[in-house]
Amino acid sequence: MVTDVYDTAIIGGGPAGLSAALVLGRSLRRVIVFDSGRYRNERSCALHCFLGHDGIAPHELLDLSRAQLRRYDTVECKRELVTSISRDGENFVICPDSELPLRARTVLVATGVVDELPPIVGIEAFFGRSVHVCPYCDGWEYRNAPVAVLGRGAKGVGLARMLHHWSADLVLCTHGSSGLSQDDRDKLRQRGIPIHEEKVARLEGRDGQLEALVFESGDVVNRKAIFFNTDQHPRSALLESLGCTYQAHGVECDEDGATSVPGVYVAGDASRDVQLIIIAAAEGARAALAINTALLQDDYAQRL
Ligand SMILES: Cc1cc2nc3c(=O)[nH]c(=O)nc-3n(C[C@H](O)[C@H](O)[C@H](O)COP(=O)(O)OP(=O)(O)OC[C@H]3O[C@@H](n4cnc5c(N)ncnc54)[C@H](O)[C@@H]3O)c2cc1C
Repeated sequence: MVTDVYDTAIIGGGPAGLSAALVLGRSLRRVIVFDSGRYRNERSCALHCFLGHDGIAPHELLDLSRAQLRRYDTVECKRELVTSISRDGENFVICPDSELPLRARTVLVATGVVDELPPIVGIEAFFGRSVHVCPYCDGWEYRNAPVAVLGRGAKGVGLARMLHHWSADLVLCTHGSSGLSQDDRDKLRQRGIPIHEEKVARLEGRDGQLEALVFESGDVVNRKAIFFNTDQHPRSALLESLGCTYQAHGVECDEDGATSVPGVYVAGDASRDVQLIIIAAAEGARAALAINTALLQDDYAQRL
């Protein structure tokens, strides 16, 4: 049985979803936020590049945001996985994992992405502590320190060239066949970046702090951190199941996050290439403005 109609159902309680909830709640919109409790940076100890909050723990930012949302009786937050969303006439039907379905006039999907870790035994223990994805987020902590880039082909070279700005004490590890052209090799050599094409057998360190990469031959390279840029995939398939169209870079949407399906919006890592918390929050706020504008138009049309 479907019990209730909200103005907006927000799927995702990370920075993008919570920011949208704040703007919509303050716009007197009845909002429900679903949060399955899995955040992209949950393994990290400290977040950076967020003005006013630089260096705080990721969970602290979320706790603070949720506490501020509790001031607004227009916003409900649920710790629930959403398993499906479908259209029912003018509204959407949201199906949470363990509660009754409910209806909403609009939907914002802010469900983030999952990083696909390089296939190296034990790497999970270091992820977010000394194995990182983003030089802007964590490069400062390793400025001029011994660092490895893990990556193949053009992506690996691109990350190595970027990270060289933070530390010249850099090696590129391709964990098998490198896919590097002679031109790539020449450019790396000019910058003094050695290439290790051998497979990494294991990582050594303690309490999440990397100390060394051990190669299959037994060779050891002492490093304080690894940066990698392998693939990622959406944490949920909700946009796809709603029929949103995709382009090469991801889901198709306009600058406000409006997707190809009327009434369905997207924000945060699920939507765009620049993946920073402050940008996810800004995208959530921007989508919220667009949603409220669309709801206002709808409200006025119904009154005429
Ligand atoms: C290790 C690491 C460190 C990082 N450090 C930084 C940093 O220092 N600074 C920075 O700016 N960025 C950093 N980032 C990037 C940052 O984590 C993301 O840009 C940011 O989390 C994106 O926010 P989001 O709200 O889009 O997604 P997320 O924070 O991933 O939140 C997704 C939300 O969707 C929910 N969800 C997913 N599917 C469902 C479903 N079906 N039903 C209900 N809920 C669902 C999840 O539970 C979660 O609440 C880091 C990333 C990583 C991997």
